[in-house]
Amino acid sequence: MAAITQAAIRELASIRGRSAPITSCYLDVDGRRLARSKDLEHEVEIVLKGARAKADGDASVLTDLQQIEQYVRGALDRSRVRGVAIFACSAERLWQVVELPVPVRTRVMVNDVPAVGQLEAVLRDHEPIGVLMADRQRARMFVFELGALVERSELFEQVPRETDVRGLRDRGGDHPQVLEEHTQQHLRTAAQVAFAVWNQHPFTHLAIAAPDHLARQLEADLHPYLRERLCGRLSVPVTANHGEVLAAAQKIEAEVERTREARVVERLREAVAAGRKGVGGLADTVEALADHRVSTLVVSQGFSAPGWRCPGCGALAAMGPRCKRCGSAMREVEDLVEDAVEEALAQSCQVEICVGNADLDVMGRAGALLRY
Ligand SMILES: [Zn+2]
Repeated sequence: MAAITQAAIRELASIRGRSAPITSCYLDVDGRRLARSKDLEHEVEIVLKGARAKADGDASVLTDLQQIEQYVRGALDRSRVRGVAIFACSAERLWQVVELPVPVRTRVMVNDVPAVGQLEAVLRDHEPIGVLMADRQRARMFVFELGALVERSELFEQVPRETDVRGLRDRGGDHPQVLEEHTQQHLRTAAQVAFAVWNQHPFTHLAIAAPDHLARQLEADLHPYLRERLCGRLSVPVTANHGEVLAAAQKIEAEVERTREARVVERLREAVAAGRKGVGGLADTVEALADHRVSTLVVSQGFSAPGWRCPGCGALAAMGPRCKRCGSAMREVEDLVEDAVEEALAQSCQVEICVGNADLDVMGRAGALLRY
């Protein structure tokens, strides 16, 4: 799997299709949604058919689409790949596939630049997460990025003499005040290891997996930079395998993401209530997009609604058939939300797709934070 980084995205974004347009294709190949490869092939066929119609007979684009079809029928390992981004331009010999462990929204775009917005969103929604695990003798530190382990460090302290431990347990055991000196030292070392790993491979969030009394001490020992990254505790034993740690980390990652989305929706709600720098509802949102005023587009996952697009000025609108900006007759679009997301990405706005946020649903399942 090609590692996807900000630098890689910037490099992609700098490519221009000089002799022919660039085909950008995102595919949701999530096996949990489309179990049979037949279903996936069928879905891709429909998307590509739509793209062929838009290709306008361009030979390079048609070749791109054919290659994409072959790729989907070929060796796609859906046990670890849930989303695919393909950037192709046959005329320029460009063929780049980014396989992602997370799903993306299926869409094909043909333009003179690669559509990298969704890749950026994937990176933003899956910030690197560190997991620091510890018990009395062991400490393990992992960094996961996009579902993959990218950094690890293991620490194993000499087991103290049996009598010391037993003597302490006899006196009342594991209370933090009576953590043995060697355990305290071990936790301090573990905290230092976490900081060293962070220096090596920065992560945005840190989760602790340790028995409560050790976790409290460990959190207190962390460098302040790391303490402010704490996002919760995992209940996995220090002996857990990578898969178990990753599963727990992804659960907490999803919680972190939902919390972040909730903050964006809260900002939107306040802006709409105050009547400045925010609009709620799809109709006003696409208006603001047409005015290039949107900084962040916010929509509920799964929301879709029909609407209009003006071939004259390119504006999207909830109501048709005449464009109130330029007077042209508009064309109906099947999914205005989809087109709004695409337009927002093209305008380099942030796009937040919120999962199960009731406050956003109340506002009409779509809204936008505005630049002015
Ligand atoms: Zn118009």
